[in-house]
Amino acid sequence: MIKAVIFDIDNTLVNFLEMKKQCLQPAVRAMCTAGLSAPPKEVLDRIYELYKKHGMEYRLIFQELLKSYGVHDDRILAQGIVAYRMARSVESYPQAHEVLSALRNSGYKLGVVTDAPSLKAWTRLVYMKLDAMFDVVVTLDDTKTTKPHSLPFQKAIAELGVRPAECLMVGDMIEKDIAGAHALGMQACFARYGSTNPPRHSGADYEINKLNELLDILPILRSS
Ligand SMILES: [Mg+2]
Repeated sequence: MIKAVIFDIDNTLVNFLEMKKQCLQPAVRAMCTAGLSAPPKEVLDRIYELYKKHGMEYRLIFQELLKSYGVHDDRILAQGIVAYRMARSVESYPQAHEVLSALRNSGYKLGVVTDAPSLKAWTRLVYMKLDAMFDVVVTLDDTKTTKPHSLPFQKAIAELGVRPAECLMVGDMIEKDIAGAHALGMQACFARYGSTNPPRHSGADYEINKLNELLDILPILRSS
């Protein structure tokens, strides 16, 4: 029987790609207005290329961007950074709060296993007002390993006081969330809505197209 549900954060609880887009658009506009002479669309595409290379959490993205244009101008850089920060907000998927509350009220223990660094993970949870919802939050800083390594999952399971088979992992990345959960004998639910390029067959035990569909599989979870 499932007793605990563990969530990934980015693109599972938080619409991370939308959040990035909403920050990057004004940042690009500000840098172009300040003198970066390239079409905004091209600048935005180049930023995404750089994120692909360095990872979506890369801190020096605008520095790297300007360098790639051969531009060394701290005013332009500052315009980008400030516009990005001012637009910063965190969008949760609709009904995240409602779904987590319903799960809690049904007696499930709730956890988070994320590859994000601790402060970034907590900042996103606080923005979404979800920070008090979880019995355990395991971040990159806790085990220094990323999914699908077993350590972060094991830490969460141990702190929740359940067996792996009593856990359902919900996440948008098959190779990290689904494979990592299955390797430990946990059940897994694929958050199809969070994947930019979802495969036809995820290999997960369950699939959801919206976060609140998790509530539809609650009865199945209870009896499994
Ligand atoms: Mg994710």
